[in-house]
Amino acid sequence: MTIAYITLGCKLNYAETSTYERKLAAAGLETVPWSKGADIFLVNTCTVTEHSDKKSRNIIRKLHRISPEAKIYVTGCYAQLKKEEIQAIEGVCEVFGAEEKSRVVPAILGLDPDSCERNETFFPAYSSGERTRSFLKVQDGCDYKCAYCTVPYARGESRNIPIDRIIPQAEAIAAEGIVEIVLTGVNTGDFGRSTGETFFDLIKRLNDVEGIERYRISSIEPNLLTHEMIDWITSGTKFLPHYHIPLQSGCDTILKAMGRRYDTAAFAEKIQYIRSKSEKEGGPKVFFGIDVIVGFPGETDGLFMETYTFLRDVVRPAFIHIFPYSRRAGTPAASRKDQVQDCVKTKRVQMLEDLCRELHEEFLESNKGVKEKVLFESTDKNGMMEGYTGNYIRISRPYDADLIGRIVEVEI
Ligand code: SF4
Repeated sequence: MTIAYITLGCKLNYAETSTYERKLAAAGLETVPWSKGADIFLVNTCTVTEHSDKKSRNIIRKLHRISPEAKIYVTGCYAQLKKEEIQAIEGVCEVFGAEEKSRVVPAILGLDPDSCERNETFFPAYSSGERTRSFLKVQDGCDYKCAYCTVPYARGESRNIPIDRIIPQAEAIAAEGIVEIVLTGVNTGDFGRSTGETFFDLIKRLNDVEGIERYRISSIEPNLLTHEMIDWITSGTKFLPHYHIPLQSGCDTILKAMGRRYDTAAFAEKIQYIRSKSEKEGGPKVFFGIDVIVGFPGETDGLFMETYTFLRDVVRPAFIHIFPYSRRAGTPAASRKDQVQDCVKTKRVQMLEDLCRELHEEFLESNKGVKEKVLFESTDKNGMMEGYTGNYIRISRPYDADLIGRIVEVEI
């Protein structure tokens, strides 16, 4: 039987699809590219914006046109929120919500889910198949209720499996010869909610796993990054000077309206503390990737400029991930009367993109001449190969097959 996978959305979905594929390949199913048609399709959907919902529906319809006889299985965040709607699309065989992911593989193999898999609400997952890094899912769901976000409804409450079951997954990744792991989750720093452990416990245990030389944290809420953790991370561990932290707004009025759990002073203090602990004279600078939403309801030009100047003058990140506010049904912000016009959102996105270009250039300049370790990837691009430094700078050098998957020191 042939099967094709389609993954929309985040690294978490990517790790989950890779895990389905590993299990189904072990059961004898042959993976094929979806455009060529297949006997079975598995679609892992996303619902972060209105557009992602539309994309999910369109790809399912397209698959049915490509292989009218094929069985289409659908999972992911959109499947959790709009199960009936998806079930009604022609060709769809079965739809699995956020807490039913352990049933996907048995269902596709025509087995009774209760008889084979641990039928639990947390679906353990990690990505494989890449020779350099793997995305390891350590946490799922979220108990926060940010006013613009549907993720808690799509992914359920914050939960995880015990550290003793995560370590063997990291060891399995190392056994594949992969040396870098990216920890991923919905609210990753909230790890331990369902087992009474902490994220700090987890990273300390992971740091001892043989064969894994580097760790990145895919994203972590600022209020969950404690001084104690930062002191430990910067004390010579395998955790890299690369932080992806959601800010969402640089204006306290908007942060309050969003229901975020910090203000700009606390955020600035955290950034400053990490820099003070990580950066040495002549050494690599910390890479901060910061999420920002523009055009949240009630965001006037003046309030937006508070965000702009906070980023330009205080945080000065290496990169800004910019999201125009997307009105999501069922969220508190969606019912606000003071919605911001799309043309205004577009202008603000443009302003932050220009600022991001400036700050990124400055970040690269500030690392020139610095010695850093690069994990080189396998792709040969016109005789050149590429890889990332610890502080997330993309480096290229003449291709050398001996360097694939190895960590090498270079001068930037
Ligand atoms: S922390 Fe807020 S933005 Fe992030 S997933 Fe949870 S509710 Fe959504």
